[in-house]
Amino acid sequence: MKAIVDRDACISCGLCESVCPDVFELDDEGISVVIQDPVDEENEDCAREAEDGCPTDAIHLED
Ligand code: SF4
Repeated sequence: MKAIVDRDACISCGLCESVCPDVFELDDEGISVVIQDPVDEENEDCAREAEDGCPTDAIHLED
């Protein structure tokens, strides 16, 4: 699985980093970046949780 963040859509809420910290991190600008590529199998569930929970649909997952 590959995770992609649309940085223009991210509003820095921090949800993705909270639910899936091995995959998402807020950078110096407070915008989410993907720090694990590809996403480890053990983190796929939380990556989906982040995708579902992102308030602006900024996270996209590809198989
Ligand atoms: S959940 Fe979405 S809006 Fe919130 S920090 Fe992550 S990518 Fe940005």
